[in-house]
Amino acid sequence: MICAHWSQALDRLAARHLKRELRLVERHGSVIVRDGRTLVNLASNDYLGLASDQRLIAAASAALERYGVGAGASRLLAGNFSIHEELEAALAEFKRAEAALVFSSGYATNVGILMALATPRDHLYLDELVHASIHDGARLSGARVERFRHADANDLERRLRENASRGARIVVTDGVFSMDGDLAPLPDLIAVCERHDALLVVDDAHGTGVVGPAGRGTAAHFGVENRVPVQMGTLSKALGGQGGFVAGSRQLIQFLIQRARSFIYSTGIAPVLAAAALEALRIAEGEEWRRETIKRQRERLASALAAKGYEVRGELEAPMLLVMMGEAEAALELARALETAGAYAPAIRPPTVPHGTSRIRLAPIATHTAEQIEAVIAAFPEKTR
Ligand SMILES: *Cc1c(COP(=O)(O)O)cnc(C)c1O
Repeated sequence: MICAHWSQALDRLAARHLKRELRLVERHGSVIVRDGRTLVNLASNDYLGLASDQRLIAAASAALERYGVGAGASRLLAGNFSIHEELEAALAEFKRAEAALVFSSGYATNVGILMALATPRDHLYLDELVHASIHDGARLSGARVERFRHADANDLERRLRENASRGARIVVTDGVFSMDGDLAPLPDLIAVCERHDALLVVDDAHGTGVVGPAGRGTAAHFGVENRVPVQMGTLSKALGGQGGFVAGSRQLIQFLIQRARSFIYSTGIAPVLAAAALEALRIAEGEEWRRETIKRQRERLASALAAKGYEVRGELEAPMLLVMMGEAEAALELARALETAGAYAPAIRPPTVPHGTSRIRLAPIATHTAEQIEAVIAAFPEKTR
């Protein structure tokens, strides 16, 4: 019986401290309310604090009145509104690309672009820590998939050199790795891709809006925007809404409109979300203080937690930091202690991260006050080694 299998699987996960639970929260900007208690929220990807910004709400409300709730159809049928094209023009400009295409989620974007760009004759090279949606798109494409060592351009080059197949070669990396807080070494990866005629796809879900000048992303941070042919991003993290996009040449976008199945066979992104994203983009570009605040908070957290004896991981440019705990149980225990003390930062456990490397992920947001950050630091018990 298949149901017996489900209950066994659930029991096994619970016994290993790996069972995931849905818990109800209410969000109010930088805090959430859970079980009647108000907690400083470090678990969101709303880095710039825009999800509850009044200007986004106003832009979305106006779009709601003008366009209605849903797009009503695929963009290719009756669901393509002026707000979609305005957003795409703004995203292209933001990413210094010729054109952009918006999807209903970041997940759908990755699945759609990889299925469209890679065929079973081709070869995909994925950084071993790329997001699950990239693995899924890679699998669905039918291409041969190889993983290269995390952030290791030399390992990538060795693999490209050894592969004599005639199909296309496509390299995929995250721009910012959200569970490690590091940036892909884009200049090195680009050099390798250019030497071996491989197409580079960068998923900048966590860089868009936060990293680089005016938050234009990881490629902009390294000054290599014009050398990343496929720039993917989401509207659902720093931009505070929901949706995904890809930016690149006009030809690439035209090709994806013909071939990306998650674009073609799915209802267009809700006009309300497109309007909110357009407003978010304007704010993200203009309000540098939001990025400066995140950087300051993340530095303060990193140095204070290291002083308390914790192993802290993450680069200054990335918006998040990780407190390494080892076993899942230890990470869960710390997460519970934090919650008791008023901070919400969940344990990240396998299969999201490798076994024995469970961690607490801290994502300060621009609207946290200095007092809230100090309260989070105080919530961490001194670590005795
Ligand atoms: C969150 C995320 C996605 C998926 O984006 P959604 O808009 O949440 O579907 C894709 N890639 C990376 C690296 C992500 O972190």
